[in-house]
Amino acid sequence: MRLLKLLKQHVGMVPNPISDATREIRARTRGADVSISVCPYCAVGCSQLVYSKNGRVINIEGNDASPINGGTLCPKGAATFGLLTSPARVTTVKYRAPYGDRWEERPLEWAMERIAQRVKETRDAHFEEIAVDGTIVNRTLAIGHLGGATLDNEENYLIKKLFTAGLGIVAVENQARI
Ligand code: SF4
Repeated sequence: MRLLKLLKQHVGMVPNPISDATREIRARTRGADVSISVCPYCAVGCSQLVYSKNGRVINIEGNDASPINGGTLCPKGAATFGLLTSPARVTTVKYRAPYGDRWEERPLEWAMERIAQRVKETRDAHFEEIAVDGTIVNRTLAIGHLGGATLDNEENYLIKKLFTAGLGIVAVENQARI
């Protein structure tokens, strides 16, 4: 008891060791908008919280409300913020023209337009309504799509809707088992 009393007296005499600067520190996510998302990397489907301020993503972390990951992320998922914001992120495409001998740098929009045009041309040229045995198929076997693990659930949903139901592409696959 005596020791406790002495300690209380002593602690009461020590000045508060927290500086004003430290007292003013706030989490950088304070006041940010929060969106719930899914880690783009693998089929475990860990839930993430994406914090943004003024339209810019400022932090991504595990969602502790998720029954899958309970607020945790593996090292790959924990690097999602870097995946989005790294200055090393490639934002243009490399294009090599038919019979060309060098790669050219082109804007992403240019590539998207070109791919869309090629898909339409190929589908128009190879769309089958009825197979040789008379079955109605409404399909094209001339185009395939292979997705990757950084596609999220929403993107895979749209890919399946557009490519299978919309365009009649049969070969729609993904390297990740989502
Ligand atoms: S955090 Fe790791 S385990 Fe979870 S979905 Fe992402 S890559 Fe998979």
